Amino acid sequence: MLIDSHNHLQSGRYGREAGELVREMKGTGITGCVVNATREGDWEAVAELARRFAGFVMPAYGIHPWFADTVEDGWEGRLRKRLQSDPQATVGEIGLDGWVDSPGMDVQREVFVKQVGIALETGRVMSVHCLKAWDELFSVMDEAEAWPEKFLMHSFGGSIEVAERLLKKGAWFSFSGYFLQARKRKVLEVFRQLPRDRILLETDAPEMIPPEDFVEFSLVDNVNHPANLRGIAEAFEKELGAEILARVAENGMDFWRRPG
Ligand SMILES: [Zn+2]
Repeated sequence: MLIDSHNHLQSGRYGREAGELVREMKGTGITGCVVNATREGDWEAVAELARRFAGFVMPAYGIHPWFADTVEDGWEGRLRKRLQSDPQATVGEIGLDGWVDSPGMDVQREVFVKQVGIALETGRVMSVHCLKAWDELFSVMDEAEAWPEKFLMHSFGGSIEVAERLLKKGAWFSFSGYFLQARKRKVLEVFRQLPRDRILLETDAPEMIPPEDFVEFSLVDNVNHPANLRGIAEAFEKELGAEILARVAENGMDFWRRPG
């Protein structure tokens, strides 16, 4: 069991057909993946992948903070509908990003808060992106009347202090191969200290390509292939010890399976 807990298989950047990507993923022993939408315009492409690769692709629908200004009237109702149409569907990718100037934080925050509400209401987990916006994220949490019981901090690159605060809120954390870079070692050190039952693995493909040594499947222009998860998992195992992958597999079952 090896699940890519966060990727964007619907992206047009691979220069390769999804069927081929999935075949290569399966060839390395990957047993499933969570495909995250980024804006309403790609929800149908994600749904199509979930239908075509049923049992392998789990869809996540949402508006990424970079696209918070693309929402059109009625989007919340349509998001609810997407979630209700598939019991396996979760909410993602959503979040806050202080690294981009536009859309502004106010716009991002409004769209994020609404999606957290929809996750709560529909009883789904959510995949959260947070970059240079920890204070904003904690302020959203503090202001919220209720917060989903569990959620994923994807490509987590924060400090142990941030992680500890998030743990109390029900966070799980996925490690991205990008952080195998020598200069990003502190991220691995944080994962070493996290509770083992809160750890998942991801590629975030086509983004977040790992350092060259860990890239078995290369594509054009530094595009990350989701099958690189196998190499990421092996490197992670070397760092965190032999039992970690069995634990991550169990965690994947736990986190992505809906209760009841
Ligand atoms: Zn992503």
